[in-house]
Amino acid sequence: MKFAARVERIGASPTLTAMQDAQALKASGVDVIDLGPGQPDFDSPSPVKLAGIEAIESNFTRYTAGSGISELRSAVAEFYNRKWGTEYDLSNVIISAGAKHVLYNVGMTLFEESDEVLIPLPYWVTFPEMVKLTGASPVAIQTGAEERFMLQTRAVKDALNPRVKGIIVNTPNNPTGAVLPTETVEWLVSVGRKEGVFLLFDETYDYFTYGDAVHTSLARFVKPEDDFYAIVGSFSKTYAMTGWRVGYCVGPKKLIKKLGEFQSHQSGNTCSVSQKAALAALELEPACLEEMREEYDWRRRYVLDRMERIEGFECPRPDGAFYVFPRVSEAMDRLNCRTSAEFSKVLLHEAHVATVPGSAFGMEGHIRLSYATSRSALETGFDRIEALLRRGR
Ligand code: PLP
Repeated sequence: MKFAARVERIGASPTLTAMQDAQALKASGVDVIDLGPGQPDFDSPSPVKLAGIEAIESNFTRYTAGSGISELRSAVAEFYNRKWGTEYDLSNVIISAGAKHVLYNVGMTLFEESDEVLIPLPYWVTFPEMVKLTGASPVAIQTGAEERFMLQTRAVKDALNPRVKGIIVNTPNNPTGAVLPTETVEWLVSVGRKEGVFLLFDETYDYFTYGDAVHTSLARFVKPEDDFYAIVGSFSKTYAMTGWRVGYCVGPKKLIKKLGEFQSHQSGNTCSVSQKAALAALELEPACLEEMREEYDWRRRYVLDRMERIEGFECPRPDGAFYVFPRVSEAMDRLNCRTSAEFSKVLLHEAHVATVPGSAFGMEGHIRLSYATSRSALETGFDRIEALLRRGR
């Protein structure tokens, strides 16, 4: 079969592939500790589930407006207004089937052949593939463990040229957990304003920051109708709702209207039932979310502590999301692995611990571990990794 050139440019999501490999091993009866997944191990909160059931029982099961139900669009706008002092209304918000969906739609709406789109590296696996699908070229900007994977203004300045149409920034970050400092967010806004570079901010993990770190939304520094930005958010992680598929974009009305036109022909509305559930999520008691955040923080500290004691693992402290991205090149040498993919495979098949290789995120010599899993799984996982590194292959 001859595929269109646009899909020949992309491959399967390596994080999903890693998840499938782990699942296949589990299905064969092996007790696998899965530190791979990018999704909360918590159940969706009860009020969310009840709102979904109520939506089904009251037959709220038909098409909705393609850009989402007005109540949910307004509730997202109000959420931003309360949190960031903005003045959004429903026409600044579109509801889509997850952040992944709306990121792609924003890309399709703005980027095209001959454009370059800057992506800080390591990156969430989907960003470069999504850019390639639009016909534009992804251009990686390096960040490093020395700066705790913080995007450096110098690196952005060096990459700017007349072909650069946009930059995709993910804070708090998957896979590094880095949280972009407020000054850098403000500086990026000045770049957007002066240079006409479109700022696409993925704030999917906005709720998850720890210690003194604070998440700064792009919303804090842009005016609603500035024409150089879009903020993407998700219900997946904050509310433990990955399967419901609800995400959104907040931005200037002109962009949201165009996204609505695009989405109306592409997918139509996201699931009607899920939209009602998302509305209930926005009304949850803060304590319910705080409990999950505190648990992640405990696990983050535990994981950092365990990694500090493993020779061959080095990891700058992450302040957000629920991942760590240690440098493991010494540990790789010890197990005679040339690549992070080989190392992840060895961890899976010989220690029965699933991880995602750094190469999936564009950076060799690292692996990503998720702490969105139980305390006991983390403990067993690290015990097994330590034991394997002690005994060797
Ligand atoms: N953006 C980032 C940075 C992610 O890590 C993920 C999921 O892993 C997503 C977006 C996708 O979120 P959603 O489930 O809303 O599509």
